[in-house]
Amino acid sequence: MCFLGAWVGASGRGFGHGDTAILINGSSIKAEYYWWRRETKTYQSVRDWLGNRGFNAWRKYHAFYLHAKYKQHERLRHYYRTAIRFLARIMHGMGVNEVFVGYPYMVNKSNGNEYNVNIWWFNKVIRWLGEVLQEYGVKLHVVNEYGTSKQCSICNTNHENGRVKRGLYVCQTTGIKINADLNAARNIAKRAGYETPIPRKILSYIVTANGVKPITPMEGETTKTPKLTPPPKRAGRGSLSRSINEHSR
Ligand SMILES: [Zn+2]
Repeated sequence: MCFLGAWVGASGRGFGHGDTAILINGSSIKAEYYWWRRETKTYQSVRDWLGNRGFNAWRKYHAFYLHAKYKQHERLRHYYRTAIRFLARIMHGMGVNEVFVGYPYMVNKSNGNEYNVNIWWFNKVIRWLGEVLQEYGVKLHVVNEYGTSKQCSICNTNHENGRVKRGLYVCQTTGIKINADLNAARNIAKRAGYETPIPRKILSYIVTANGVKPITPMEGETTKTPKLTPPPKRAGRGSLSRSINEHSR
C-alpha cells in the first residue's frame, strides 16, 4: 500500500538540512496483496459454485477461503511491520525526532485502485508506525496529503501531467526531475512547515519476507542502518531533522 519516504536530517554541522531520502518500495507488499486476493477469489467462486448446487464440499472450500484470507492478513502484517521497524530504527539512528505521515483524507474509488484505497490497512500501518516510533522517542504527526502528489514541490504550482511514468515528477518550470513519491513527501513537509532540500542521496529499499533489502547496491549499504554522520547530541525538538512518509497513489 505505501511507499515510505523519509527525509533525514543527517547534516554533520549542527541543525542543517538533511539531504538524504529513504524510499521503501511497496511493490512487494502490493504483489503479496494481489496474490492472496486471487487465492481468496478462486476459493470463493468454487465454494459458491458448489454451494449453489447443493454440494457439501462447499464447506471445504469455505475453509480454504478463510485460510487464504488469514494468510493474506498475516503476510501483509509481517511486511508492514518489518518496514516500520526498519524505518524507525534508521530514523532514530539518524537523529530524527519527528515524523510526518500523509493521510489520504479525500481518497475514494475514483482516484485510486482497490489496493491504494484500502484505508483499513492504512489506519493500521499508521497506528503501528506511531507505536514503534514512540518506543524510539520519535513523535508521529498525521498530515492531510490531499493534493500533495499533484503539486510541484519545486515551484509550488500544479503542473498538468507533472507526474510522468516510472514514478517521476517533472517540474515544467525548471525542468528538474524528482522521484514522484519524494515530490509528494516534500509537499507534506511543506504543509508541516518545513522546507526540505531536493535530496542528493536516495536510499532505496524493498521489503522482502526476510527483511528489508537495499535496491541501490551502489550506495554500498546493507540492510543495516546506513552509516551517515551521526546527529549532534543535543538534537532535540526544534532540529530540522524530519521525516515524511507518503502514501503512494
Ligand atoms: Zn514546478
